[in-house]
Amino acid sequence: MDRNTPVIELKGVGEKTRKLFEKLNIFTVADLLSFYPRDYENFREPVSISHAGAGEVCALRAAVAGIPNEKRVRNLHILNVNISDGTGNMQLTFFNMQFLKKTLKKGGYYIFRGTVQTRGNIKIMEQPKIYTMEEYGKLTDRLNPRYSLTKGLTNQAVQKAVKQALSVCPPEEEFYGKEFLRTYGLMGAEDALHAVHFPEDMEQLVQARQRLVFDEFFAFLFLMRQNKEFTEGIENCFPMFETADTVRFLEQLPFPLTRAQKRVWGEIRDDLGSPCCMNRLIQGDVGSGKTVLALLALLMTAANGYQGALMAPTEVLATQHFETISEYANGGCPVLKPILLVGSMTAKEKKEAYGKIASGEANLVIGTHALIQGKVQYKSLALVVTDEQHRFGVRQREQLAEKGEKPHILVMSATPIPRTLAIILYGDLHISVVDELPANRLPIKNCVVNTAYRAKAYEFIEKEVRAGRQAYVICPQVEEGELDDLENVVDYTEKLRGRLSPDIRVAYLHGKMRPGDKNRIMEEFAAKEIDVLVSTTVIEVGINVPNATVMMVENAERFGLAQLHQLRGRVGRGGYQSYCIFVSTKENKETMERLQILNQSNDGFYIASQDLKLRGPGDLFGIRQSGEFSFRIGDIYNDAGMLQKASAAIDALLLGDPRLELQEHMALRKHLENVSANSVDFRSI
Ligand code: ADP
Ligand code: MG
Repeated sequence: MDRNTPVIELKGVGEKTRKLFEKLNIFTVADLLSFYPRDYENFREPVSISHAGAGEVCALRAAVAGIPNEKRVRNLHILNVNISDGTGNMQLTFFNMQFLKKTLKKGGYYIFRGTVQTRGNIKIMEQPKIYTMEEYGKLTDRLNPRYSLTKGLTNQAVQKAVKQALSVCPPEEEFYGKEFLRTYGLMGAEDALHAVHFPEDMEQLVQARQRLVFDEFFAFLFLMRQNKEFTEGIENCFPMFETADTVRFLEQLPFPLTRAQKRVWGEIRDDLGSPCCMNRLIQGDVGSGKTVLALLALLMTAANGYQGALMAPTEVLATQHFETISEYANGGCPVLKPILLVGSMTAKEKKEAYGKIASGEANLVIGTHALIQGKVQYKSLALVVTDEQHRFGVRQREQLAEKGEKPHILVMSATPIPRTLAIILYGDLHISVVDELPANRLPIKNCVVNTAYRAKAYEFIEKEVRAGRQAYVICPQVEEGELDDLENVVDYTEKLRGRLSPDIRVAYLHGKMRPGDKNRIMEEFAAKEIDVLVSTTVIEVGINVPNATVMMVENAERFGLAQLHQLRGRVGRGGYQSYCIFVSTKENKETMERLQILNQSNDGFYIASQDLKLRGPGDLFGIRQSGEFSFRIGDIYNDAGMLQKASAAIDALLLGDPRLELQEHMALRKHLENVSANSVDFRSI
C-alpha cells in the first residue's frame, strides 16, 4: 500500500464509506492524509456540577438520580434525566433517544459531556455525549482531531482510517534539505503529517501545522514565480482608445463615481492604451463599487471591437453579473452584447453560446472559469476580468497562452491585505486600491448577543420584512452532524419557518446544492420572492442585493472576524439602514470582547489583525479568516508570518538554482511538480 492506493483498500472502509469519502473529495490514501482536522477537541478532566459554568463545554462525573422522565411532542421524543454528583444537580435532555431510558439506570455513574446552559436556576445540558469512566479515561488530556464530516460519516471512522493509513504507508522522502529545514525552523514532513492528525500536545501541533502551512505557501508562491514569465512585459496585443461609449455610460449612471473609482478607472484606461499588456488587481472593500469599474473596462474593450470575459467564482455571481450588465446593455450601452456561459446550461445552450463567441456576435462573455476552458474559442479575446477571485491562476493563464491568447487581465478582490502581503501574493500584478465607499452609505449597526436574544432578533427580522426589506441568516454548517453543537442550514430553516409568520418566505442556500438550484434561489432572493435566506458562507463573496438590510450570524464565535466582516458587507449596500446581529453561543467574556472589535472598525485588515492579537496560536485552529484564498490549511491573515517566510525561502532558493536543476533539489522539484499537477486546492490556480 502506498499513497496512491484507493481508500477502499484500507481495513474498515467498505463501499459505503468509500462513497462518503468521495463526497469529501477523498479518493486515495494521499487525499485522506491531507484531509486535515478542522479543529481539535480537548477532553479535560471532569469538573464538578457546581463548577460547571454556563456556555462552557465540560465533562461531569455524576450519577443518574431518579427515573428518567419521558414525553412526546409531536414527532419528538424527549427524555429528561436528572443527575447529581454531591456538589449539585443538573437536568439532561435527550431528543429521540428512547433507548437511553434503559441504559441510564438510577444510581449508575457516567461521564456526561456537553455544553452547560442555564434555565432560571437550573443547570441543563442538551444531548450530552455519554461515556463510561474507562472510555473517557482514554480520551483525556489528548487533542482529539475533529474532521469536517458529511452525513453518515463519523469522526471515529475518519480517525481510524487516518490512523491506519499513517501506520501502513511507507514514509515519503523529505523534499527539503536538512540545512533548509534548520534555516527555516521546520519540522520534518512525515512528523508533521503524523502530528497534525494526532498531536501529542499543543506545541507539537503548532509546529506541525506551521510546516504544512509553509509547504502550501511555498508551492503556491513557486508556481506564481514561474508564472511571471507569462505576465511580465508582454506587449499589448490589443491597444485601445477611449470612445464616447464609456463617457455616455458614465453620464447615464444614476450616481457619480467616487474619487477613488475615478482614479482607478484612469489607471485601467491608461493600461489598456499602453505598450504593455495590462495585469492589474483592483482591491476594494466590499461595497466600494468595483463592478462598475469592470464594466467600464469591458465596455471600452467592446467599443474597440474586441471581446471581453468576466469570470466569477460561482454561477450565482456570474448570473447576477449577467443580469445587471444586460440591463445596462439594453439601456445605454448598445455596443455591449453580453452572453452567459455557465456549467448548468444545457448542451444545446452551450453550443449556441460557443457559436456566438467564435463568430464575435457576443462581445462580452460572463461565466465561471468554464469560459476560458477547452471548447471555448474566441474571435478576439482582449480582456479577462475575474471578480472576487483574487488570483487569476497560473493554470488559467497558461491555458490562455496555449491558445495563443494574451489578453489584458483585471483581477478584482475584496480581501483587504496590507501592501507588504499583497506584493507577495500578487507579485506579478499592479495594484489599484478603491479606498472609499460611495457617499450614500449609512454605517451598519452591529450588535453582539447571546442565544437568549434570538426571539428578539426574529421579531426584528419580521419587522424589517414587513417594511419591505430582506434578511440573511448565516449558519456554520450545511447539515446535521458535520460538527456537533453547531447550527445547520437545513434544520435551522425549518425552525425559522416555525418561528416567523407563515407568510414570510424562508429559503436556504448552501455550497453543496446543485448549481442550478443555487442560481434559482439567489435569483428568487434578488427578485424579492424570498424574504429570509438561510445560508452558509457561500453568500460571502460578491452577492449584491441592496434591499437586504439584516445579516444575522449564528455561532458567530466560530468565524474569524475578517470573515464576519465580509459577511457584514452583504448588507448596507443600498440607501437603507442595515443591521448585523452576531449571535454567540459562547457567553464568556473573551468571545464577546473579540466580537466587539467588529464595532470598532470597518477596515477588514485592522479587524483581522486585532483578532490575531486577542487569540493565542492554539486558538486559531478551526478559524478561518479569509474565505477568498482557499488554501487547504494556511490562512493569509493568521499565517501572514509564514507567508513571508516562504516567500523569503523561495527568493533564496531560486537565487542559487533558478531552475531547480541541482541534484540536491531533485526531490523538491518532484514534489512541486506533483503539487502543481494536483493543485485543485487553490481555488483559482
Ligand atoms: P463591490 O466592490 O463589493 O463589488 P459593487 O460593485 O457590487 O461593490 O457595488 C455595490 C453597490 O454600490 C451596487 O449596488 C452599485 O450599484 C453601487 N455603487 C457603485 N458605485 C457607486 C457610487 N459611486 N455611488 C453610489 N453607489 C454606487
Ligand atoms: Mg463585487
